Amino acid sequence: MASDPGLAAMLLWTISLQAVGTAGTNSNEVNLLDTTTITGDWGWLTYPSHGWDAINEMDEYFSPIHTYQVCNVMSPSQNNWLRTGWIPREGARRIYIEVKFTLRDCNSMPGVLGTCKETFNLYYYESDRAAGSAIRTAVNQFIKIDTWEWDLGGGRRRLQLNTEVRGVGPLNRRGFYLAFQDIGACIALTSVRVYYKRCVGVSRNLAVFTDVVTGADSSSLVEVRGQCVDHAEERDTPKMYCSAEGEWLVPIGRCVCSAGFEEHRDSCVACEVGFYKPVAGDGLCGKCPQHSHSEARAALNCPCDSNYYRATDDPPAAPCSRPPSAPVNVISSVNGTSVNLEWDRPLDTGGRSDLQYSVLCQKCSGEGGSCEDCRSGTAAVRFIPRQTGLTEPWVTVLNLVAHTNYSFRILAMNAVTHVSNEPSLYASVNITTNQAAPSEVLAIRQENTSQNSVTLLWHEPNQPNGVILEYDIKYYEKDNEEQSYSTLKSKNTSARVSGLKPGTKYIFQVRARTSAGCGRFSQNVEIQTGKAAPLRYNTMTILWICMALVSGLVAFLAIIICRKRHCGYSKAFQDSDEEKMHYQNGHGMFDPFLNYYHILVSFPDARFYIDPHTYEDPCQAVHEFAREIEASRIKIEKIIGSGEFGEVCYGRMRLPGKRDIPVALKTLKAGYTEKQKRDFLAEASIMAQFDHPNVIRLEGVVTQSKPVMIITEYMENGSLDSFLRRHDGQFTIIQLVGLLRGIAAGMTYLSDLGYIHRDLAARNILVNSNLVCKVSDFGLSRVLEDDPDAAYTTSGGKIPIRWTAPEAIAYRKFSSSSDVWSYGVVMWEVMSYGERPYWNLTNRDVIKSVEEGYRLPAPMGCPAALHTLMLDCWQKDRNERPRFCQIVTVLDKLIRNPENLKSMDTLCSPPLMERAIPDFSSCNSVDEWLDTIKMGRYKDHFAAGGYHTLGHVIGMNQGDIQRLGVTLMGHQKKIMTSVQLMRAQVLNKSVPSVHV
Ligand code: AMP
Repeated sequence: MASDPGLAAMLLWTISLQAVGTAGTNSNEVNLLDTTTITGDWGWLTYPSHGWDAINEMDEYFSPIHTYQVCNVMSPSQNNWLRTGWIPREGARRIYIEVKFTLRDCNSMPGVLGTCKETFNLYYYESDRAAGSAIRTAVNQFIKIDTWEWDLGGGRRRLQLNTEVRGVGPLNRRGFYLAFQDIGACIALTSVRVYYKRCVGVSRNLAVFTDVVTGADSSSLVEVRGQCVDHAEERDTPKMYCSAEGEWLVPIGRCVCSAGFEEHRDSCVACEVGFYKPVAGDGLCGKCPQHSHSEARAALNCPCDSNYYRATDDPPAAPCSRPPSAPVNVISSVNGTSVNLEWDRPLDTGGRSDLQYSVLCQKCSGEGGSCEDCRSGTAAVRFIPRQTGLTEPWVTVLNLVAHTNYSFRILAMNAVTHVSNEPSLYASVNITTNQAAPSEVLAIRQENTSQNSVTLLWHEPNQPNGVILEYDIKYYEKDNEEQSYSTLKSKNTSARVSGLKPGTKYIFQVRARTSAGCGRFSQNVEIQTGKAAPLRYNTMTILWICMALVSGLVAFLAIIICRKRHCGYSKAFQDSDEEKMHYQNGHGMFDPFLNYYHILVSFPDARFYIDPHTYEDPCQAVHEFAREIEASRIKIEKIIGSGEFGEVCYGRMRLPGKRDIPVALKTLKAGYTEKQKRDFLAEASIMAQFDHPNVIRLEGVVTQSKPVMIITEYMENGSLDSFLRRHDGQFTIIQLVGLLRGIAAGMTYLSDLGYIHRDLAARNILVNSNLVCKVSDFGLSRVLEDDPDAAYTTSGGKIPIRWTAPEAIAYRKFSSSSDVWSYGVVMWEVMSYGERPYWNLTNRDVIKSVEEGYRLPAPMGCPAALHTLMLDCWQKDRNERPRFCQIVTVLDKLIRNPENLKSMDTLCSPPLMERAIPDFSSCNSVDEWLDTIKMGRYKDHFAAGGYHTLGHVIGMNQGDIQRLGVTLMGHQKKIMTSVQLMRAQVLNKSVPSVHV
């Protein structure tokens, strides 16, 4: 037993310190051995027997204390071993050993110098099972963990309780021993605790991580996968790392609560009744939308209340809704065989915004008679924009049968109408159609085809809408449509078309005509004539051919001579224009054999013009010629003028795949009558038939929505008269002639089509940014209605007197020749920069003076050649007036040879209007004179140049005027001409020619 003198004293110390040293362990430490929990002897092995000693005592509270002590400090060469029992590893790879001990300072003990030590060693040894008690033989297999020295605790006290911890790993065997080696120190082991560390199970990001033993060495991390909590599902695999210190690091991934559950304190709880959650996620349960409910907890969705529905595309969060009530206030307006239906939205839209309408149409026979679906039978009723799925509260129904009763039902629907299985509610309206043009001719067949003729057969249209008066047969060579085509008329449903070329493909179309107008042309039918058989000539045939050729040549030369006379500027020959309203350039011939009136038409670059008033339904005409444009493609930007029917606006039109183009929009003001609409759209129907750079181009019409609009190209400089007034004197003569040439070219084109304008005036010419003039204003009735310059004549018509030829004023003989008269007035307007023709003369005086032979004088600075042309346009005999094509030729020559524009002397002029010559004798000052000739802006220039009296002025030449700073050529000429005139008046000479 303890033989050393200091041992008893050391024990007392040890006991009192032991009470302090039993601190608790961390929760992440798992003990493999803890001597403080052993009641009684620890039962460890010692070797040799006089070394370590188990001491059992009582502390001051009478609790038993167990220690192992050794203190052989006075004996040399000590080697005392103390070994624990076998400690199973329990999966730990790294263990920690916490030892509490006292180690006595050798200096505190007398007489131990040389033998007393102040260190002891700790060893371990791994084995798979308990190795028995053979400690002596095993000591050399122990592996040293560490050596502890006396001053480890800081050495402040002679005897103190030390607590030391050492880690060991990796361990591989199933268990191990620890051993303490004393080599002559005075030691008391008060407790030994062996433990490993773990990461304690946690719940993080809705995933559970269970306990995990830490890694084998101090720096390794153990990857741990978490498991989602109940009612949760993985978003990204939840993972964390367990550090050697037993701490969780780097949480990755997460779980989310499943549908019907929401997160609540690291777990997922079910949605309450009245709430729902449709999909798994972070979101909370939502309250059931309007008109829906949930009956149990954890609802994924909320079914609709009874009589409420959800459409298949509705999200679960959408409120439940109902089908709409019926549309209200249906208004129908019948127009021939079409009807316009408009209505108001249902009062109850069912809580939805996807309202749509469908229209059911029934054709009814007589009062109280049976009805059948409109589309049964052969009639092709058309719905615009469509029959079902209408989003706007209107529809136009076309192609109805004339004089027939129809019943329409307008059904209101939304996306839950079909789901509900409830019948759609509707509003109904009954109408009776009126007169209309016939429908399209169908099924054209060829009965007979020879080398030069084709016989066609067809059926009456399905809807003749009246008695068919005749059929128009239109045909042309397939590859030659642009150049020419021919028409033929037939009273019955067959026709023989002769005079065709052999072996040539022709296109045929037929349309019917009743007193209500023309129907649509049928689809194209292509027929090829038979091939010509090779000719065999005998002498007689050759003789006949020669004779025919010679007579043909003679006839050809005669025609050429006639045409030369006719197209030259001789005015000797001119056809009556009147008959060419529809068939300009045509040669009518009566074929007694076929009994058809056969008109061959051959145009260089155009077809004939069709008066839209021959159509009963203006919409039909406008749609036959003009393109319907969706209102959504139009953007109105500003108002630029006003016409009879409404405002004229500037806007932009979007074309698919192209840049927006600027357009002018003529609108039809609200509250229009049917007649106004007809007249308004008639202009578009006319314009749509034209295609010429000097005629305003129609882009299309908007008739399917309001406002109804006519869309034309935009002309930046507006109307010609105001444009000239804005730029008074600013153009060269050649520029002015260029403007006139454009107008004449446009009129040539129109007159070739047989179109008579009747209101040709500078105000009806538009000018674009390139100074190109285009003829506009084609509303026939508007000539009478909206032109402020039009006045009533004695015959009751309203006519723009100052621009109109005498024969048209007197007995309404309008023709292309009367248009030529008007063109002469336009020339005068252009050359005088927008002066009012006949100034302030009354209409009555204008008619009278023109009747008496007076004509407008040349405007100031107007070349004689141009005034001569004007005078030709104003020939009393309309057959003496030039044709527009001739006017173009004359102007082209003048442009090519501008020296012909220098002379101001008019030759062979008729008597001039004396009133046109300003009388400068009434002018008292230079300022007054300048005002008279509308050059008042140069008053300061003249004053600064020292020209204070008219006496000074009449001595001026063109150079003087230039030097005053009058830079514009037109103004120089105007002033110079007036100076010359004044000089002549002062010198009491006759007025030099006509150039006032
Ligand atoms: P209108 O109805 O043709 O008499 O047009 C009235 C006014 O609108 C004209 O005098 C022009 O100033 C203007 N206007 C009409 N059409 C166009 C257009 N295509 N481009 C520019 N301005 C136009």
